[in-house]
Amino acid sequence: MRETQLAVAVVGAGVVGSCIALALQKRGAAVTLIDRDEPGRGCSYGNSGAISPGSLAPLAMPGILSSVPGMLLDEESPLHLPMRYLPTALPWLLRFVASAQPSRVALSAAKLAALHAGAVDRHAQLARELGVPELFVRRGHLHLYPDARALAKDAGTWRMRRYYGYQFQQLDRAGILALEPRVGERYQVGVFMADHATIVNPFRYVQAMVRGFARRGGQQRRDEVQAMTPLADGRWQLRTAAKADAAANTFDRVVVAAGAWARRLLDPLGVRLALESQRGYHVQFDGGRDTVSRTVILADRKVFVTPMEDGLRVGGTVEFGGLASPPEPRRAAILERIARETFGGLEALSSTQWMGHRPCMPDSVPVIGPAAGRPGLWLAVGHGHLGLTDSINTAQRIADGMLAARPG
Ligand SMILES: Cc1cc2nc3c(=O)[nH]c(=O)nc-3n(C[C@H](O)[C@H](O)[C@H](O)COP(=O)(O)OP(=O)(O)OC[C@H]3O[C@@H](n4cnc5c(N)ncnc54)[C@H](O)[C@@H]3O)c2cc1C
Repeated sequence: MRETQLAVAVVGAGVVGSCIALALQKRGAAVTLIDRDEPGRGCSYGNSGAISPGSLAPLAMPGILSSVPGMLLDEESPLHLPMRYLPTALPWLLRFVASAQPSRVALSAAKLAALHAGAVDRHAQLARELGVPELFVRRGHLHLYPDARALAKDAGTWRMRRYYGYQFQQLDRAGILALEPRVGERYQVGVFMADHATIVNPFRYVQAMVRGFARRGGQQRRDEVQAMTPLADGRWQLRTAAKADAAANTFDRVVVAAGAWARRLLDPLGVRLALESQRGYHVQFDGGRDTVSRTVILADRKVFVTPMEDGLRVGGTVEFGGLASPPEPRRAAILERIARETFGGLEALSSTQWMGHRPCMPDSVPVIGPAAGRPGLWLAVGHGHLGLTDSINTAQRIADGMLAARPG
């Protein structure tokens, strides 16, 4: 009965918030999903679509300190920090470097392994349930390296994958060409992870989630949450731009899934997260989707090449630059040049560019669960480079945690 339902607001309809809204609804909560924009238009719009549970290594690995000069000075570096943003980013960067200690890396990898587990099968099932099975493609991921020396630099990452039971197969040039005949000469060594998968239109996937949620009676609102106030009776009141009446904006629980913007809501409540935007870019060629037949990772350049349903997407780069400054077209141009150098046949194709804000914690581990000292407030923030992959298990954790004590 409606009266006994828990009223939950989910703030943010990216892939994380939308997945949470669905999971809470399935478990009997009365959910309102609020986004100031069209659902899925944030970071979840333009990602590379990889369902990548074998990505266990946090971004800050031992030796990261030696890459800092390159980040600052080399315009082409996959990690880029403009000098002007250094003072702002410094406190976060210090925590990032500290989390590269081997013992902390091992702890982060263990947490990520637990969060990633089973993600491929669960996304397959969700895509079927939502009526969009064509968006889920399981053809494996092919990681490419110029030579054995370049592969050896990633040896720690591959050891981690083996330790956590992920299967992979090393390939020579002939093996690479047997899978992907258009890969250029630069790449002589490959590693194939056959059981990994791809969502071939991440935006349409989020939209399908929200449509499914609305079909089952979920409330979806386009509105900006400006502030959140705990009430004496334990509920939460939201102040929103659309000035809905107080009753419509009062909830038993609130889940903040506001991506890289979450601190604007949490800082005033004293809930402090070390959250920083790592700006990522994609270039999407109109057509060219037959260039590769699966997700291909140019591992030495940290670039993902994905045959999306509407063109060939080339995504990557990490740029520190904050939420306010406009996209830097040079970053996308680097991706475009790398793609044209690596694969033949892209010269004649036009392309579009996109930039998104990855919500990143220093240790690469997202914050999922109740906020300390703020009863009724839940967090699902900081999914960094893997929010699509981890949306599904994040949603499960939030639903289990919030509704475990209540009858389903
Ligand atoms: C280039 C690139 C490639 C990537 N590739 C992959 C990949 O292959 N696989 C993978 O797993 N991950 C990938 N990622 C990461 C993934 O896209 C993110 O981790 C994920 O999209 C984060 O989802 P989110 O829902 O937390 O944030 P978002 O999608 O940004 O959603 C947050 C939402 O909150 C809303 N919002 C914020 N503040 C408010 C407010 N006050 N009121 C109302 N609404 C608000 C915003 O409008 C937004 O819609 C990639 C990212 C980038 C940039």
